[in-house]
Amino acid sequence: MKITGAKIFVGGPAKNYVTIKIMTDQGVYGLGDATLNNRETLPAAYLQDYLIPNLIGMDPRNSEDIWQFFYRGAYFRRGPIAMASFGAIDMALWDIKGKLANMPLYQLFGGKSRDGAMVYAHATGTDLEDLMDSITAYVEQGYKAVRVQCGIPGMPSASYAVPETRGANKNYISDFSGVRPKIEVWDTEKYLRFMPGALAEIRARFGPDLKILHDVHHRLTPREAAQFAKAVEPVGLYWLEDPTPAEDQNALRLLRQHSTVPVAIGEVFNSIWDCNTLIQEELIDFIRVAVTYAGGITHVKRIVDLAGLHHVKTGFHGAPSHSPISMAAQHHLNAWAPNFGIQEYLVLGTPECDALFPSDHKMENGMVYVSDAPGLGVDFDENEAEKYSYRAGSHPVVRLEDGTIWDY
Ligand SMILES: [Mg+2]
Repeated sequence: MKITGAKIFVGGPAKNYVTIKIMTDQGVYGLGDATLNNRETLPAAYLQDYLIPNLIGMDPRNSEDIWQFFYRGAYFRRGPIAMASFGAIDMALWDIKGKLANMPLYQLFGGKSRDGAMVYAHATGTDLEDLMDSITAYVEQGYKAVRVQCGIPGMPSASYAVPETRGANKNYISDFSGVRPKIEVWDTEKYLRFMPGALAEIRARFGPDLKILHDVHHRLTPREAAQFAKAVEPVGLYWLEDPTPAEDQNALRLLRQHSTVPVAIGEVFNSIWDCNTLIQEELIDFIRVAVTYAGGITHVKRIVDLAGLHHVKTGFHGAPSHSPISMAAQHHLNAWAPNFGIQEYLVLGTPECDALFPSDHKMENGMVYVSDAPGLGVDFDENEAEKYSYRAGSHPVVRLEDGTIWDY
């Protein structure tokens, strides 16, 4: 069996999804997602110029050897562009393998460990009452877990993941005004004064059963993070996400010495080497890698297995930048993983997205039920794809009030 060709598509409704379709001499094809948020053209070029020419003629069933060929063969290893590109190929090869076996991928991993996988939504508010309304809307839809982000009184601009306007039309997710980013202004002191009390009010309003998550988005120093974790301990958070810059693996030791609040980190990691210390020293409770950014199913499954040895659960990244293809790969891992925790979930549900990526993965009452279709269980409509093309976009950058650059 041989790979005969591969095509790359960049574009989609509200996002520049990078989709690869790998074709074989037996008519079976596989799909992968290489969407590297706001840098989408780079994995597309890496795939097109370097990886696809090497793939032609390879046996798609040898997904492990192909992964090793690209990773170890590159000499300059790791990095988000390379790992997203390898990840997309890897997903597509697993998709082909599942279709050849006529089995959903979770069966090839070892079968189901659960019927449905719990997901969490993003509740946001310009102020606390606006946030309470947003949480209520998700609770009424059946979500059991909600990430909560709130505007900070006195902060001169919207902070991370907070919309600029109240109400139903508020949207913080996509900025396609070009590659020059907007500026957000950050003030750690105001945040530390306000947010613990806000989280306590949310707990008081919604009772003990709602799983409350909060994302600090790498904004605090280790000492500030330890202070914050201690302050929010009575709230009983499901997790505190990215309290410190993720690349500093030493940072969480201080937090661990002062608090038992569960810590989740890792959405920006792209290899097992980025989280090896955090997992083996048991400095985290949830690992947030994604199959898109961290080398696909083959590599993320290794991270999940390592994490399981150290009581670390999964909490895969699931921002809107992940297409339904990589989310499907995560649905299959979530169905199987004995150390599954929760899944971030924002992608499915718009008619445009469902038309581009048809599938019967189902979301009900805050749980995802994985499809039993062979392979990933998601398809890609090339005719629909012709409606879309690349649009330049950006994340904000963050400055302190005196202009100093800070962590987004
Ligand atoms: Mg996050």
